[in-house]
Amino acid sequence: MSQPNDRPATAGPNTRLVHGSGDPSDSHGFVNPPVYHGSTVLFPNTHTMRTRGQKYTYALRGTPTTDALEEALDGLEGSAGTILLPSGLAAVTTPLLAFLSAGDHVLIVDSVYHPTRRFTDTVLVRMGVAVEYFDPAIGPGLRALMRPETRAVFLEAPGSNTFEMMDIRAAAEIARAGGAVSMIDNTWATPLYFRPLDHGIDLSIHALTKYPAGHSDLMMGSVSANAATYARLRDTQMALGINAAPDDTYLVLRGLKTMGIRLERHQEAALHLAQWLEGCDEVARVLHPALPSFAGHDLWKRQFTGATGLFSIVLDGGGEDEAAAFLDALKLFGLGYSWGGFESLAVAADLSDRVVALAPTEGPVIRLQIGLEDVADLRADLENGLRAYSERRR
Ligand SMILES: *Cc1c(COP(=O)(O)O)cnc(C)c1O
Repeated sequence: MSQPNDRPATAGPNTRLVHGSGDPSDSHGFVNPPVYHGSTVLFPNTHTMRTRGQKYTYALRGTPTTDALEEALDGLEGSAGTILLPSGLAAVTTPLLAFLSAGDHVLIVDSVYHPTRRFTDTVLVRMGVAVEYFDPAIGPGLRALMRPETRAVFLEAPGSNTFEMMDIRAAAEIARAGGAVSMIDNTWATPLYFRPLDHGIDLSIHALTKYPAGHSDLMMGSVSANAATYARLRDTQMALGINAAPDDTYLVLRGLKTMGIRLERHQEAALHLAQWLEGCDEVARVLHPALPSFAGHDLWKRQFTGATGLFSIVLDGGGEDEAAAFLDALKLFGLGYSWGGFESLAVAADLSDRVVALAPTEGPVIRLQIGLEDVADLRADLENGLRAYSERRR
């Protein structure tokens, strides 16, 4: 879907966020789109029904509400079409199911979100797909892993928990040259800080649960596709019978309006805390792509236009008990999964699933989601955590 025609296609990202989801004149001038609850859509006569001669035919196939969000995401991603799914994980599994069949081979980056691996190692393997993980630092070596039957290359950059970066354009080119579809889990960057399709990727995946929703109150996913892959992706979504619920779709549309300014704040606060943590004795390393000390910093800088609020620290020694001392001393940082909401969160990363991109060895890895609280308060909370960690170490 294109932008409403009175707005320039060259508009900046914040302008797109504010104006990119439908034309108010379609809803009596109200600035937000209506929320359509529905299943049945009536047809005026059998001819229209037989020929599917009207825009909406059944709620599973889309409503004006889901169209508004799909249009907004197409504007941000530069995609030919977007599908919505009931979770970020469903946005990972649906394109894999769309493009893989028995006998195919899929290459997956080893620093992938853990539930993605659980899906590929169980459902895809049971379907007869050969699954192979590769090192995010593989670079041009990816070409040597391509087989005649390689049908998909799945990326996530930066990697989950450890934030490894990749040369995404190079990987997309290798995939295309080998006849495989390339897909990337782009949740960390959001389409504001990285647009995968501009770098040759076919499919861009998001957990809208995170920054687009932004308020920890719903789950949703999206896949934005180029013209070559969209029809098959949409057909698979319909075959599987999944779409997004109307009220949640509305909340993501609402979240998008403020995502640009929220991200600016998440970015600034996270970078400030990451820089401070780098100088703390208790911290061996900070894994944050925007830090010049980070191994993937140059790759990040060349390809991305910003960093968001999620990064990790590697504590200097200790194990599970020391990590627990740090986490249990935190009062503002909640102990919980997910991220991208208004509140700060901390969690010990379990990296035991890695097969090639192995976990840091200095000590436990703690993933931090920096929320919208005052930075001085967050820093004081982390200082308490580090103090408790040091005491446990002694
Ligand atoms: C959270 C997350 C998902 C899954 O999203 P849910 O909505 O929680 O299912 C997928 N990929 C990444 C990188 C995530 O962080």
